[in-house]
Amino acid sequence: MNSEVISQIDKNTSAKILLNESLKKHTTYGVGGNADLIIPSNKIDLKNIMKIASDYDEKITILGSGSNVLISDKGIKGITVSLKGALDQVKVNGGKLYAECGARLGKVVKESIKYDLIGLENLVGVPGTLGGALIMNAGAWGGEISQYLKSVEVIIDNEIQNLDSSDIEFSYRNSSFTKNTILLSANFELQKSNISEIKKNLIKAQDGRKNTQPLNKRSAGSLFKNPDGNSAGKLIDEAGLKGLSIGDAKISTKHANFLINDGKATSKDMLKLIKKVRNTVQEKFNVLLELEVKLIGFDKNELGGLS
Ligand SMILES: Cc1cc2nc3c(=O)[nH]c(=O)nc-3n(C[C@H](O)[C@H](O)[C@H](O)COP(=O)(O)OP(=O)(O)OC[C@H]3O[C@@H](n4cnc5c(N)ncnc54)[C@H](O)[C@@H]3O)c2cc1C
Repeated sequence: MNSEVISQIDKNTSAKILLNESLKKHTTYGVGGNADLIIPSNKIDLKNIMKIASDYDEKITILGSGSNVLISDKGIKGITVSLKGALDQVKVNGGKLYAECGARLGKVVKESIKYDLIGLENLVGVPGTLGGALIMNAGAWGGEISQYLKSVEVIIDNEIQNLDSSDIEFSYRNSSFTKNTILLSANFELQKSNISEIKKNLIKAQDGRKNTQPLNKRSAGSLFKNPDGNSAGKLIDEAGLKGLSIGDAKISTKHANFLINDGKATSKDMLKLIKKVRNTVQEKFNVLLELEVKLIGFDKNELGGLS
């Protein structure tokens, strides 16, 4: 990153600056090269960082917990802002839940349950921050984070703005937030319910996850989205690809739609394996799988049609 940008951020904010930081520590896959990582201490810091970056025409990448990203071995150019552990307030008032976007989704779910509020408990066990969950429209066991959303506070064009949930389109693991939108906080409206009903949903989600997913391995959850009316895991399994590996990158034997880092995998090997799986499924079933995991820092020529 431009040293003048660093010095401006250092001078004008109280953000933590980690130069040439390994991103292996900041992603659940545990792969990826280095980046200049900035951790803001509050919203105003974040707004100032955005302004400095735009004044110097510096590219910004936002990371939550890095639980849905595959980052190149070459790392990320420009500024990488990490919100994990930053901006993490959660407050409940009646049925209204307010949370900042760096808060762990697990903390948001826990608070909702503490106040007997129903609706978010299906998301128990989804790692990551609230911001990442909203960008991805994270969902599990029939629930999606967008379901009870009322509004989102964002930075767009260096200004803090509020968006009503009706201004945002959400679909299966997708949202209409533009690339340059930074999510700061969100408001949800939830209903009070019987705690035994909430616990029933909670246990179903926890057990389902434990029984079907390789939770002791480094992954980013589902690799591909399920195609309409089909299951990506089933197609990969039926193509005979369970357990396939390139280096330490491996298709889980427990769940075929989980790509895992089984040791010291590189992003290069992870990407090679993704392409191999996608091509094989297309050849066998004529279905082109779409990635759920976001690829960051790769050159266009490395991606070969992936995005
Ligand atoms: C074991 C395991 C199980 C999983 N199970 C599920 C599941 O059941 N359902 C599901 O939906 N997902 C699941 N996931 C995937 C992942 O946890 C979710 O997508 C999660 O919501 C991503 O949040 P994050 O903070 O880690 O986002 P990151 O991976 O850090 O980022 C994801 C995207 O969001 C952007 N982003 C993050 N925060 C912000 C922000 N504040 N403003 C703007 N952009 C931002 C990033 O730039 C990136 O494009 C699982 C992952 C793992 C490892």
